[in-house]
Amino acid sequence: MTITKDTKLIVSFASKQSSVGAAMHNAGYQALGLNFIYVPIATDDIANAIAGVRGFGLVGNTVSMPHKREVMKHLDKVDEVAQKIGAVNTVRNKDGILTGYNSDWVGATEALKEVIELSGKKAIVLGAGGAARAIVYGLKHSGAEVDVLNRDQTKGQSLADDFDAHFGGNLEDLENIKDYDILINATSVGFGTEESPVQAADIKEGCVVMDVVFIPNPTVFMKQAESRSCKVVPGYRMLIHQALFQFELFTGQKPPFEVMEKALMGAL
Ligand code: NDP
Repeated sequence: MTITKDTKLIVSFASKQSSVGAAMHNAGYQALGLNFIYVPIATDDIANAIAGVRGFGLVGNTVSMPHKREVMKHLDKVDEVAQKIGAVNTVRNKDGILTGYNSDWVGATEALKEVIELSGKKAIVLGAGGAARAIVYGLKHSGAEVDVLNRDQTKGQSLADDFDAHFGGNLEDLENIKDYDILINATSVGFGTEESPVQAADIKEGCVVMDVVFIPNPTVFMKQAESRSCKVVPGYRMLIHQALFQFELFTGQKPPFEVMEKALMGAL
């Protein structure tokens, strides 16, 4: 691409960066001939990072761990859903007003809908952090019933209360739950490691299983699910769908799904 005085810059802020967001977004801009560029920046200082977006008048930015909650207090507005979830991972600058959004819930529900209709289904969500909050919101919004299991029980109960879901105990309690259609790992267990949050024998045979963790691919949890004859939705499906939402918000254009998907698979 050629960078000119009119090139629009989108930046991504995280304390540890990866190249997958840049691969998807830049491939999309190129395919549509848009004069945009997406650059990942590693930072621990989200206040100054957002001041930079404001100061340079950038179109917007994305936000990853661990800044998704902290970023909210540096914005002018936070959309209602992101407020309820309590996490922002996308910021749009419109005429100097910075508004925060959450695309994770869209990513998760769209990824699941590729394999299962959500309305009326029973889902178990492992975890109660930012990703879990977005997923529980998305599931409830789509008409599913949700049970939350989490190591920190106070946090798990509080998530369940916030979204009219049920708290079912800690991760080991999965062993006692037999009646569900969907199981989601929304913990960070297994990210870059050979660990799983649960025992394979505790996964109900034949259900739909999604892992939010996308590195390694496949994760141990995904392999366990396959051994239980489950239909597996990898974390990268959520990643691609949430990026499509961001792309449209930044550019106002319909994202080129297949191009961005291919770029993601190449970057993983
Ligand atoms: P948070 O730090 O907010 O939450 C982490 C969660 O994992 C908490 O519920 C925590 O439990 C649980 N957890 C961590 N370590 C353990 C452990 N050893 N045993 C049991 N539970 C544990 O992180 P996020 O919610 O923001 O992110 C979670 C994961 O989702 C990350 O790996 C992230 O990369 C991924 N992600 C993927 C996306 C995608 O598009 N695929 C999008 C967003 C995130 P406790 O509350 O007890 O501490």
